[in-house]
Amino acid sequence: MRVKFWGTRGSVPVPGPTTIRYGGNTTCVEVEDRNGNLLVIDAGTGIRSLGNDLVRRGKQGPIHVFFTHYHWDHIQGWPFFAPTYLPKSEFIIYGRAKSAGMLREIFAYQMQYTYFPVKFEDLPCKFEFVPVGENSLKIGELNVQTIDLCHPGKTFGARIWEKKRVFVFMTDHEAGLKDKQPHPYTDYTEFASKADLLIHDAQFTEEELPTHKTWGHSSYQEALQLAVDADAKRLGLFHHAPERVYNDIDRFIDHCNQLLDRQRKSVDVFGTMEGMVFTL
Ligand SMILES: [Zn+2]
Ligand SMILES: [Zn+2]
Repeated sequence: MRVKFWGTRGSVPVPGPTTIRYGGNTTCVEVEDRNGNLLVIDAGTGIRSLGNDLVRRGKQGPIHVFFTHYHWDHIQGWPFFAPTYLPKSEFIIYGRAKSAGMLREIFAYQMQYTYFPVKFEDLPCKFEFVPVGENSLKIGELNVQTIDLCHPGKTFGARIWEKKRVFVFMTDHEAGLKDKQPHPYTDYTEFASKADLLIHDAQFTEEELPTHKTWGHSSYQEALQLAVDADAKRLGLFHHAPERVYNDIDRFIDHCNQLLDRQRKSVDVFGTMEGMVFTL
């Protein structure tokens, strides 16, 4: 499986010279199985560049798109996703909803004429809507298991595996809010267990947490502890706060490595960057 990051920023896109190193686009991750089946996770502003790339690659579908949740930073790139405007494109959309009709409504809402000049019903491509709960899906060779995470309105984490290689995606999750989580902490460590690649929310620092309780995000220290407890091989810090500029995230990585040395543990920690590719 190939995993590529098109947007790793949290909350709001932050373009400009101060965010060049890690990128300024919001959540979008491309996952491709060995047969070329395509799963896109979230449609933050990173999906615009992915769309241009897919058009270049001649990929028209079906393209599977999984939404962790519908906060702006995870959906607002959709109207700028070039394949949507091609008549031959086919999309299968997965997200939390009570029915396919409600999922369609949630999805189409942001393209109402008040907000965007092209209406959803005028798009020339084909859509299928699949409401998702905590369950498992099969997308090509990819097995996907979802879990409810701790975030206002809830969000999904995803454990995705092809043969024995495991990618776990857990963003918009408040790992420290243990008394209010949909699952006990050990369910999350089990969910991320022995991941070859774990991507975890790391919006805050320990110092920032007390003033951001119930915001639905973790500190990078909490993300690290979860990776250690889950015995993950690699941890990518994700959902970088808009305020992180220049080499802030590099300092977090250095600190993570110090914390690991102290615990005599080994996890390969890095900050997720736009354009990064992993082949698992
Ligand atoms: Zn978010
Ligand atoms: Zn969110």
